[in-house]
Amino acid sequence: MLGPVILAASRSDRIRRLISAAPGTKQVVDRFIPGETVDEIVPIIRDLTSQGLELTMDVVGEDITTPEQAEAARDAYLALIDRLTELELGTRAEMSVKLSMFGQALDGGHELALANVRPVVEAAAAIGTTVTLDAEDHTTLDSMFAIHEELRKDFPQTGCVIQAYLFRTEADARRLAENGSRVRLVKGAYKEPAEVAYQQKHEIDKAYVRVLGILMEGAGYPMIGSHDPRLIAIAQELAHRVGRKLDEYEFQMLYGIRTDEHLRLAAEGHRMRVYTAYGTDWYGYFMRRLAEKPANLRFFLRSMVSKG
Ligand SMILES: Cc1cc2nc3c(=O)[nH]c(=O)nc-3n(C[C@H](O)[C@H](O)[C@H](O)COP(=O)(O)OP(=O)(O)OC[C@H]3O[C@@H](n4cnc5c(N)ncnc54)[C@H](O)[C@@H]3O)c2cc1C
Repeated sequence: MLGPVILAASRSDRIRRLISAAPGTKQVVDRFIPGETVDEIVPIIRDLTSQGLELTMDVVGEDITTPEQAEAARDAYLALIDRLTELELGTRAEMSVKLSMFGQALDGGHELALANVRPVVEAAAAIGTTVTLDAEDHTTLDSMFAIHEELRKDFPQTGCVIQAYLFRTEADARRLAENGSRVRLVKGAYKEPAEVAYQQKHEIDKAYVRVLGILMEGAGYPMIGSHDPRLIAIAQELAHRVGRKLDEYEFQMLYGIRTDEHLRLAAEGHRMRVYTAYGTDWYGYFMRRLAEKPANLRFFLRSMVSKG
């Protein structure tokens, strides 16, 4: 019940201001977003990769309102890629981007987002790595998939995300699996209406397994984005059944969530990629993490009270 309320609050400027200014917020935010600048995140990158983990880097931010902010987003990623060049991590550190941060919702947003994200994809390719386009709310997805297809003409390794909770996703998965794409499958983190998305956890989990089957049997590269132990076990079983080797799919989890599991899967020889977010515009990302687990909200409220 709480999840949808928190997701609605994630769109409120008034609550954003309240939460951002509250005592104790930073301590809880740090668990999920371990830095605000490139300088702060580089030691984290070194630490995680030294433990055998791989990364997908997210500069937090979304729903920007001016073309200048979209250019700033592009430049923030370019600055990150510049620093990654020195670390020589290749595909061990890729990028995740939200097209709403690159101008997708502005006038002429589709073209603008494509124009802003292309240099990031080019710069990533120049250091031997790639970019994955995150999935945002369902109204943005036709544009995201079209940009993905366009980028793949020159950079076939560009990935995208599909969300099990949407009715459309099985069809998207079939198309992407057939054309050999890198695809991250997640349950879905936005507040979506019943006309387009499953609402019940058990329905979403069943849809996840169906879509996972399509990806595993297809020609693409499945990236299993989940912390759910049951789904991880099913993914391992499916991969085994269709004869995929360990380097023919990967697991992905968010920084700060089920960290022991990251290390366990990596120790078993799996490619385990940690989605590592950093930056100052953390509100939307943080609120989705609270919505996913009510215990996070209780912890957050307790820390506000104890600091206040
Ligand atoms: C790498 C990655 C990238 C993602 N990219 C996108 C995207 O582009 N678009 C999108 O809509 N969604 C994205 N998500 C979020 C996703 O849609 C889910 O909201 C999120 O992963 C929670 O679902 P779950 O599969 O982990 O299962 P759940 O059933 O939600 O969680 C399983 C278990 O994991 C733990 N857990 C899960 N979430 C939390 C949390 N926030 N705090 C503490 N413990 C937690 C709990 O122990 C829980 O019992 C991404 C998730 C991952 C892992």
